[in-house]
Amino acid sequence: MVKHNAIDPAGDAAKVRGELEALRDQVVAATEQGAEAAKPVELDQQRVGRLSRMDALQGQEMARAAERRRDIELRKIEAALSRLDRGDYGWCVRCGEEIAAERLRHDPAVPVCIDCAQGASDA
Ligand SMILES: [Zn+2]
Repeated sequence: MVKHNAIDPAGDAAKVRGELEALRDQVVAATEQGAEAAKPVELDQQRVGRLSRMDALQGQEMARAAERRRDIELRKIEAALSRLDRGDYGWCVRCGEEIAAERLRHDPAVPVCIDCAQGASDA
């Protein structure tokens, strides 16, 4: 398959870069806020007041899980930015087919086409 431009280099690339950078800024800001919640429970005892230690531990675990999700999201966004730099943006990293524009609009950092996303559990 000949690669036609999924992204117009002059127009869309700059727009997509702006969207990806905005997403990255959001994730970074949320990570900085979340780092506070993920601090060790011992340090939280005064701040949480009447919350039980169990509640504090659960909150901490949730904060850590959110942090892991943000970390994955951040890597995904940075990978998309580097694909944009290489001119590979908009092409499935798994099979090389074009990723549907609708799918990219929904999530500009998405790395795989719909077929590969649906088959991901088999891989
Ligand atoms: Zn694919």
